Amino acid sequence: MKLAANLSRLGTESAFEVLARANAIDREAAAKGQPRMINLGIGQPDFPTPAHIVEAAVKALQDGHHGYTPANGIPELREAIAADIKKYRGVEVNPDQIVAVPGGKVTMSFAIMMFGEPGTEIMYPDPGFPIYRSMIGFTGAKAVPMPLREENGFSFDADEVLAAITPRTRLIIVNSPANPTGGNVSRAEVEKLVAGLADFPDVVVMSDEIYSRMTYGAPHVSFLEFPEIRDRLIMLDGASKTYAMTGWRLGWAVWPGDLAELATRMAINIHSCVNAATQYAGIAALTGPQDAVDTMMTAFAERRRYITDRLNTLPGVSCIEPLGAFYAFPNITGTGMTAREFQNQVLADAHVATIAGTSFGDMGEGFIRFSYAASLEAITEALDRVEAFLKAR
Ligand code: PLP
Repeated sequence: MKLAANLSRLGTESAFEVLARANAIDREAAAKGQPRMINLGIGQPDFPTPAHIVEAAVKALQDGHHGYTPANGIPELREAIAADIKKYRGVEVNPDQIVAVPGGKVTMSFAIMMFGEPGTEIMYPDPGFPIYRSMIGFTGAKAVPMPLREENGFSFDADEVLAAITPRTRLIIVNSPANPTGGNVSRAEVEKLVAGLADFPDVVVMSDEIYSRMTYGAPHVSFLEFPEIRDRLIMLDGASKTYAMTGWRLGWAVWPGDLAELATRMAINIHSCVNAATQYAGIAALTGPQDAVDTMMTAFAERRRYITDRLNTLPGVSCIEPLGAFYAFPNITGTGMTAREFQNQVLADAHVATIAGTSFGDMGEGFIRFSYAASLEAITEALDRVEAFLKAR
């Protein structure tokens, strides 16, 4: 068979590969009575979806919501999303500009497919969520890395981004709070980028704000707050992280102007609609009590403090304060290992799964992503083992 050439440029998420290797090592460890694998590689909350959300989905099924829904999402869901945006971002959004999709990744792929084609350029954060680069490559567009540096708290540098824009640049992807770095871009830097974009009226921004509720100091700054770019801003969000709903598949975006209709047309062509029961679960998530989110964030805050302090005591390791999401991204250059060596050796010797920074782009060399979406006991044991491993070398 002859596959389409675009497929040769489709990447993947190596977190899934590490997970498969971790599982294989763990099976062997179980058989040999060795210490079991501790997984700090995972990118999803270790909490169940709150019960009232699950109940709303069960009720939806029992009430007979078994069919297709409007492709952009049922109106009650889109209204709940608009109300949530008003509550947490202080911005009015017309529910007709919102398109619900099966997960944050779908908005990302739609946006990249809308703007990417051979001869164009799309900028993406490096280190950043690997699917950005993968999907840009798939479209044939040139993927232009936007370097995120430790000395800037892993924020983009607005001047550097603006200087990298060319006549071929169609889309700029930003992500804050960020995977894999835990960075949270400051208001001043967002303002600078937005102001500079006035000189490039054809450049569209996709702001991935899926971790917007997960911050530990300064609140998240949404690009939606800036009216001057609203007509070319795609704001991506979803339920996966905030409500511990990764397996339900619910994301959404605010699209500017006619792009909402175009995104809906893509939905009709590709997936028809989000699973109906999941949409009712989404309404319950957004409009119901938020105490489960608070409880989860209190736990994340405690683990974040512990893991950051502890990483900074390890030989050859230093870690800046993560300001959002649930990842620490320590610098491991002092160990003399590359990121991949560190990841593989810690996996094989200490039975702790982490992800090499290079899985998120070339700028991730010298860094490791530790997810703290695991119990404090598991994190403590994992760091004891990593410490023992580093000291024995
Ligand atoms: N955006 C970022 C920055 C992420 O880290 C993730 C998931 O890890 C997503 C989007 C995708 O979310 P979803 O599972 O809703 O597709």
